[in-house]
Amino acid sequence: MKIAILSRGPGLYSTRRLVEAAEQHGHEAKVINPLRCYMNITSHKPEVHYQGSVLEGFDAVIPRIGASITFYGTAVLRQFEMMGVFTLNESVAISRSRDKLRSLQLLARRGIGLPVTGFAHSPDDTRDVIKIAGGAPLVIKLLEGTQGKGVVLAETQNAAASVIESFRKLAANLMVQEFIAEAKGADIRCFVIGERVVAAMMRQAAEGEFRSNLHRGGSARAVRITPEERSTAVRSARILGLNVAGVDILRSNHGPVVMEVNSSPGLEGIEKSTGKDISGQIIDFIDKNARPGRTRTRGQG
Ligand code: ADP
Repeated sequence: MKIAILSRGPGLYSTRRLVEAAEQHGHEAKVINPLRCYMNITSHKPEVHYQGSVLEGFDAVIPRIGASITFYGTAVLRQFEMMGVFTLNESVAISRSRDKLRSLQLLARRGIGLPVTGFAHSPDDTRDVIKIAGGAPLVIKLLEGTQGKGVVLAETQNAAASVIESFRKLAANLMVQEFIAEAKGADIRCFVIGERVVAAMMRQAAEGEFRSNLHRGGSARAVRITPEERSTAVRSARILGLNVAGVDILRSNHGPVVMEVNSSPGLEGIEKSTGKDISGQIIDFIDKNARPGRTRTRGQG
């Protein structure tokens, strides 16, 4: 099989491991920078061009599209879908997962546990949205943030109001969320492939920090998850239409609540903390599922 890995970082751990795993399975893997792909938009023979030639003969695409290039990256992926190439996660599902508000709305509609969350446009509605989210302490999040940037804990009503108002002055979209204090700075990353959680790790925030992101000094270890957590993770990935996802869960007093569903989950933390060959399992999934024309949406939507 010939596999394209859409990634801007050939040297990144995740990209390197996927190339290695593909080769171990006897496949050919090529790392392609999505920002250097260009396309002809035509109905009879859609093509992707790269470094002066047409990309041909690919059986599967593994998208590793960073949040900052979602728009162009998903357009490139859509072009592969139009060509009938199987993609590990489809463009529509990636776009859904990148919109935090839209994802939470889709999950809420299907009864997935979530932190109580409010969202408002006008600063005039700040007081009310604080009330909706249950009052201070509150977590305020920029919708465009990643790696814990733009995630703030406001301990009091006044602090919450001033954070919301300053974010809004910058014309940033944000959501206001119940603070799950009982999680004690820990969250659980469930790595989903297909219909299974293949690995789970608990990330613990550094001393004095409530955000457990590894980029913020959090530490990770393998964790056993409950059947309820397992089914919450698998259902969340399925609702967003993702074959592979990192589902982030907090252990709250009212059961597992989903914070975020990541469509390009990193492999380093999860492989190193659990000792599992997740990259190999991703390639196994492609082996079982990649057939020409198997893409469900064929670039629609
Ligand atoms: P990002 O996508 O930027 O990583 P997250 O929404 O995942 O942002 O938040 C970053 C971290 O902050 C999470 O991993 C978690 O540890 C903590 N956190 C986020 N939301 C809450 C919340 N509602 N209650 C408690 N902790 C939270």
